[in-house]
Amino acid sequence: MEDRPSNRAAGVTPFLVMELLDQAKLMITRGEDVIRLEAGEPDWPSPPRVIEAGREALARGDTGYTPSAGSPELREAISEWYGARYGVAVDPGRIFVTSGSSPALLLALAAIVDRGDEVLVSDPGYPGYANAVQFLEARCIRFPVVESEAFAYSAVRISEAVTPRTKAIMVNSPANPTGACVAPREFEHICSLGPWVVSDEIYHELSYDAERCRTALEYTDHCFVVNGFSKRYAMPGWRLGWVVAPKTCLDVLRNMNQNFLLAAGTVSQAAGVVALRDTEDDVRRMRDEYRSRRDLLVRRLREIGFGVPAPPAGALYVFASAARFSPDSIAFAKELLLNTGVSVTPGVDFGPASEGYIRLSYTTTRERIAEAMDRVQRYLAARTAAPTESANPAQHSPEAGAGAV
Ligand code: PMP
Repeated sequence: MEDRPSNRAAGVTPFLVMELLDQAKLMITRGEDVIRLEAGEPDWPSPPRVIEAGREALARGDTGYTPSAGSPELREAISEWYGARYGVAVDPGRIFVTSGSSPALLLALAAIVDRGDEVLVSDPGYPGYANAVQFLEARCIRFPVVESEAFAYSAVRISEAVTPRTKAIMVNSPANPTGACVAPREFEHICSLGPWVVSDEIYHELSYDAERCRTALEYTDHCFVVNGFSKRYAMPGWRLGWVVAPKTCLDVLRNMNQNFLLAAGTVSQAAGVVALRDTEDDVRRMRDEYRSRRDLLVRRLREIGFGVPAPPAGALYVFASAARFSPDSIAFAKELLLNTGVSVTPGVDFGPASEGYIRLSYTTTRERIAEAMDRVQRYLAARTAAPTESANPAQHSPEAGAGAV
């Protein structure tokens, strides 16, 4: 009897940070004071008007299905949002609402990628992309984004990786994990290279310096644009996102969506309309706070000796070089967790060239960020002074670690 999982399913790799998360949770259950800088989850509840809209939808008894592609109100609101934010006209008929942006990414790639096709993904890059590409039996080809260029996408470097088999280029700006934003000229150039562009714009409006983010829709119709509510509206638990598809793929998207995903949550969609139309002040407040936290975290990391050449322009993360302290980012993340109670994400989660880095999220208060940096600073100073004693994290019991340094 065959009882093995499919090769396709078995090829999906775990998110390494999950193992650390389990350890962090265990420590928290034991009553230890763990400061969590590993997750990209906004630390405040959704804006009050959004919560109210969800409550009202429930009170009205809005508990049936919406049309598969999303409620007409939400698709209209998303279309309006593109007009107001970017000055681009998007026909609501091109918008498919999904349960978070994750299914939207899978739909977009599934719509265009055949077995053996190549898809270009940055290294470092969001792990979901490489896994989705591999799941579709396509090949993930990495192009580098490097620290010395502030992790910026280079259209020239991307063009060098394009072959006749290249079906799509993934763009993520502001990027997870680097926070880098693609420069408009580079973006335009990338959109002119020929392959499909799949643009993950989930961190739009979470950019902290001068320029607004551009959408791929400003440059080309040969693209899929993915977006969602989890980050800028602090709505990860509502599971709501969307994809804007090109006219040529609407039928395949509709069919996949109807069969595999059916529809996004009705209550969430009602809340989404309000998020798009009536939360500008909330988003501004959160953005201002994120900016202050980013500045604090970058300053403290540099003081301690981590490499952060340019402050990340957006998203919720600082991608810092820990090479001075360890060549092995998993071992280093574990060491920090066990000895300081500060949890961070190891760089290798984001691609083979990302070893030696750690990702820190600033989705916690400035006070907690400062406390985390104090602990790490004290620990690393002691470790440098007595390297052999601290080199093996297994020698330290967690109880002795968190909060005790
Ligand atoms: N894209 C990127 C770059 C992300 O960081 C995330 C979440 N961490 C997602 C997509 C998926 O988010 P969601 O499914 O909650 O919309």
